Amino acid sequence: MVNITTHYINGQFVESKGQEKFGLINPSSNQLLGHVTLGNVEDTQDAIAAAKAAFKTFSTTTREERLDWLQRLYDALKARAQPLSEAMVEEFGAPVKKSPIAAAFSTDEFLHVKKALSNFNFVREMGNAKVIFEPLGVTAVITPWNSNALFICRKMGTAIAAGCTTVIKPSEMSAIQTQVLVEALHEAGLPPGVFNVVVGRGDVVGAELTRHPDVAKISFTGSTATGKTIAKGAVDTMKRVTLELGGKSANIILDDADFAKAIPLAIMNAFLNNGEACNAGTRLLVPEDRLDEVKKSIKHAVEQVKVGNCLDEDTFIGPLVSRKQYERVQGYIKSGVEEGAELVTGGLGHPQGLSPKSLEEGNFVRPTVFANVTRNMRIAQEEIFGPVLSILTYKTDEEAIEIANDSIYGLYAYISSSDMERANRIASQLQVGRVSINGAPHDTGAPFGGFKQSGIGREYGEIGLEAYLEPKAILGS
Ligand code: NDP
Repeated sequence: MVNITTHYINGQFVESKGQEKFGLINPSSNQLLGHVTLGNVEDTQDAIAAAKAAFKTFSTTTREERLDWLQRLYDALKARAQPLSEAMVEEFGAPVKKSPIAAAFSTDEFLHVKKALSNFNFVREMGNAKVIFEPLGVTAVITPWNSNALFICRKMGTAIAAGCTTVIKPSEMSAIQTQVLVEALHEAGLPPGVFNVVVGRGDVVGAELTRHPDVAKISFTGSTATGKTIAKGAVDTMKRVTLELGGKSANIILDDADFAKAIPLAIMNAFLNNGEACNAGTRLLVPEDRLDEVKKSIKHAVEQVKVGNCLDEDTFIGPLVSRKQYERVQGYIKSGVEEGAELVTGGLGHPQGLSPKSLEEGNFVRPTVFANVTRNMRIAQEEIFGPVLSILTYKTDEEAIEIANDSIYGLYAYISSSDMERANRIASQLQVGRVSINGAPHDTGAPFGGFKQSGIGREYGEIGLEAYLEPKAILGS
């Protein structure tokens, strides 16, 4: 049984002052893995004080020193990629074929930040002024359970590149992954207080970080509802915020697309990370007169997707992270049926034939596809965060754009077409932070973030780094 009782404050693993214990559950079986002791307000304040003290010196470090720290963090985590990957399988339910990739993506975040830092111009001439980009101060990093290590590495790495110090509050549901990660990062030997980690509840540790006057910035990834709470709380002390929130991304397949490629891509985009991804392409928009063909090939393809034992090499979808998330997704499947959508494949309950038998107690959902979904249905509007895909139809490009933009969210969109001019014309009219044409992969040099209620600000590259800096204009220098 795992028993995590410490936080990482001022370069040391210190016993939690909090008393509350949180049970860590294996989502494949809902069996108890162990416990983590949750931090309280005092732990959070200790971490903020350590970050504040470290900021004095760390904010004056040179670009070369920060590049060196980032490289050390990369090296330290790379050496522990295997245990990190194993923790992702056990605690999050990542299939074993994907978890090493997720661990490598997390580690690589430090290299991406290095690249942005290498090219960054900290002193610029604007008008007649010299403008200096200075580190903001203590940054609170608040992360969700769906990609805990990746978000921590990206946000903390960017803070370091900027000369900021951090207090990190990961999701308590990711406590084992966090422990492996922090033990690895500790090996990098950064000055005490540069990064601190307090595992605890959002309404305790997260709320204190949001409230505390010594925190200058919050970088958050999670639900739009929590993002709003944080933004409202942050304004009292005028904290800067970067909010990476929910999505309901449209995937537009144009009639000139190669459907043999576009359909498998659509499934991959919809079900990535067990469907628990903010940028999942969960609204599939297809030409009305191609619907029957799409339904047939999607049904066939989805029924080949293996859901089940994370330890099997051919598993594509593991369990959802918690019983609560399982119930939430079941609720959406039920609402799709009740609102009159056509169930193409999947549906309520567990998939058949889970093996071993203990998996029947886990949070496995049947990958589900609905057709004849209308724009006002909940399954067309709300972020489900599970392997559920909604197919909508359009008659013209204009209608496809209108449907895609008919969302409170605006994080990502996907387009498949053989006509690049047409695809680019459509991309330019979509109200989203990113558009991927014909499966173009994630690019860490380009900004990532949302329009509308998908967030505020951007991560990655120079724009991402700027968000941890404050410009100071010096006139007459
Ligand atoms: P939340 O947004 O509640 O959690 C994300 C992080 O915020 C967690 O660390 C959480 O802590 C923390 N938090 C919660 N309340 C506060 C607060 N008042 N102040 C500061 N921090 C806080 O996501 P959920 O886990 O509840 O998931 C609910 C839904 O949100 C999902 O079903 C999905 O639709 C969406 N979601 C979207 C994500 C994305 O990447 N866009 C990521 C995760 C969820 P704690 O763990 O203690 O609650």
